[in-house]
Amino acid sequence: MESLNLKLLEVCSKCGACYHICPSCLNLDEGYDPRAVIKDILAGQYEKWLSHKSIWQCLECHHCLEICFQHYGFENAMAAMRTLASKKGLATTQVKRGWDMFIKTSKLGEPAAPARKKLGLPEAAKSGAEDFKKILKIYQERKV
Ligand code: SF4
Ligand code: SF4
Repeated sequence: MESLNLKLLEVCSKCGACYHICPSCLNLDEGYDPRAVIKDILAGQYEKWLSHKSIWQCLECHHCLEICFQHYGFENAMAAMRTLASKKGLATTQVKRGWDMFIKTSKLGEPAAPARKKLGLPEAAKSGAEDFKKILKIYQERKV
């Protein structure tokens, strides 16, 4: 898998610089640290992280990418782990629920109109769900 580049991961396991600027590492579970996770991956003990909720809590803020002298970023390794977890059916319940909803409705959720009003936000833009369904239908028809 491209994102789990072993040469880059070897360096990560001794670096850990992005730990100190990663909001997920600093505010979530104790032990969620690039060095620890990546050491496990390199030792072939990655399975325990596949069912760990931390890998789903990356904010995709790209701070790790910006700081990384390898231009790698912990987020790439975690994206690869999430892909692997999904393929093995180990995604969290919330992720599975979101995915099922997206497949059924082409949406990830409905905007909370009262909350937007309370915060003084404008009305949410129209969803592109209907257009997406049409595109999906054309794609599926062409695939057959
Ligand atoms: S992703 Fe970059 S900054 Fe983070 S541990 Fe690896 S080498 Fe260090
Ligand atoms: S992109 Fe994800 S892994 Fe990288 S610093 Fe942000 S939260 Fe952490």
